[in-house]
This record gives sequence, C-alpha cells and structure tokens, in this order.
Amino acid sequence: MPGAISARQISAGYGQEPVLKEISFSVNTGECFIVIGPNGSGKTTLMKILAGLHRADKGSVLIDGRAIGSYGRRELARKMAFVPQQVPMDFPFRVRDVVLFGRSPHLGTFGIESGRDADLAARAMEFTEIDHLAQRRIDQLSGGERQRVFIARAICQEPEVMLLDEPTAALDIAHQLRVMDLMEKMKFEKSITVVMVSHDVNLAAMYADTLLLINRGRMVQSGAPEAVLTYKTLEEAYGCPLLVDQSPLGSVPRVTPVPGRYIREDLKGIVR
Ligand code: ADP
Repeated sequence: MPGAISARQISAGYGQEPVLKEISFSVNTGECFIVIGPNGSGKTTLMKILAGLHRADKGSVLIDGRAIGSYGRRELARKMAFVPQQVPMDFPFRVRDVVLFGRSPHLGTFGIESGRDADLAARAMEFTEIDHLAQRRIDQLSGGERQRVFIARAICQEPEVMLLDEPTAALDIAHQLRVMDLMEKMKFEKSITVVMVSHDVNLAAMYADTLLLINRGRMVQSGAPEAVLTYKTLEEAYGCPLLVDQSPLGSVPRVTPVPGRYIREDLKGIVR
C-alpha cells in the first residue's frame, strides 16, 4: 500500500551553519512516527523538508521510493497533506470553505467542486467533529476548533501521508487527546501514514509506533518509545532533571520533569 516516506542523510539549513545533520529514517505505510527534541533542534525545519517546502542541502526525501523533487505540486498535494504550526488565515472564511480548499489538488481545470467534493468535506467535518461549526467564521473559533478545521482540510485532501507540526501545541489536555485519537483513527481506519512533531514526550510515547529524538540537528535515537525515552537519552538531549518510569497505562514509558526542590541524594542516578 502506498504512503511510505523516508529521509536519507538529510543535511539542511538556512545559509551558514547547517540546522540538520545527516538525518535518516523510514516510515512505513500506516505508521505513526513522532519527532521530538528540544526547542531549536530542527524539528520544524525537518517537517518543511518532508513537506517539500524547504530544500535540503544534502540527502533526499523519498515518497513511495520516489524523490520528492520528482513530484509535481498537485501530484504531491494529492499524496501528502501538511498541517503547519500556524496557518495564516487573514480572511474571514467559513469553516466549510476552508475544509473544501483541501480538494483543490483534485479539482479540474476550472476548479469546480463536484458533489463528491462537497460530500468529502462533510465527511471530514464529521470525522473531526466540527460539522456544527460549518457555517462559522474561521477567525472566530478557539485554538482547538481551528486546529480540527485544519486537520479536516488535510483529511479532505485524501492524502496517503499526513504531516503535522505540533498539532497539540496550545491545546488543553482534552483537546490534545482528541487530536491524537483522531490521528490514531486515521491510521487504523484509513491506513494514513502520520508523521508529526510533538513537544510533549508523554503524549508522543502513548501514540507513536516509532519516535525520533533529535538534538542540535542530529539524530540522538530512533525506535520504539521504550527504546528512545530512556533517562540517558533524555537527560543528554534536554539537560534537565527528570525521572523515567512506566506509565500506569502499560508498557509505555512515563517521563516526569523534576522540580529543583525534589532533587535528593537518594535519587541520584535517576534524577540529575
Ligand atoms: P524546532 O522546530 O526544533 O524548534 P526549528 O527547525 O524551528 O527548530 O529551528 C532550528 C534552527 O533553525 C533554530 O536555530 C532556528 O533559529 C533556525 N531557523 C529556523 N527557521 C529559520 C529561518 N527561516 N531562517 C534562519 N534560521 C532559521
């Protein structure tokens, strides 16, 4: 099934010093791959490269085994949807119209929507539970509602790969879970490959099939959450006192940042 994405030896930047250095990974169809790392480590830059919005200086991105550069713009948009951290939305569009924009890579020469496009938009709004907002103005929604509108637009695009840059940033815990459950639903029900950036290591641990931890533009570790979220790797990357144990939900690791007043002699080795 199509929807595989891989990065080979990617080095990239914005001029002088490279921001990303020799990043390589493969994501299989229907997998949830989450990139974590400290601020400024290059996560957004990596997403922009995967989305074809920024060129790597070295290395390549392959989608279904083909170099990203060999895809036309519309062809790529039919394959892959990108939900950036902040979507500029200066016009007071209605929610339904924003979701329908997701159909643009599929529309014919005159850009006329068909009944099927309208139907897909309705289904995407239903899937993301925003159908009741269809006639509301996008600029008058809460952060959580807007986030779901942009995810609905991406779903309406019918991509095989979905890229999301911190889709849960600035959401409360209920909305974080809702967005992450939605991603999981897409993975299971539509076999969509999900690649996302998260600043929340615990949320990432609960949902990722594979995690990639990057620090200062380099790969620190990649693999199952329990292999990546170890005291040693996290301490090295984030440089702060923390505890790693097992989540009460099962075999997933749980990371607890440790406030200074809790640091004690007997916890040395566990906390820094
Ligand atoms: P993260 O998403 O992990 O916080 P970014 O990819 O946003 O990291 O940034 C990585 C580094 O690249 C930072 O040092 C940042 O200042 C730099 N950077 C990001 N965007 C630009 C840009 N457009 N021009 C120059 N430097 C940039």
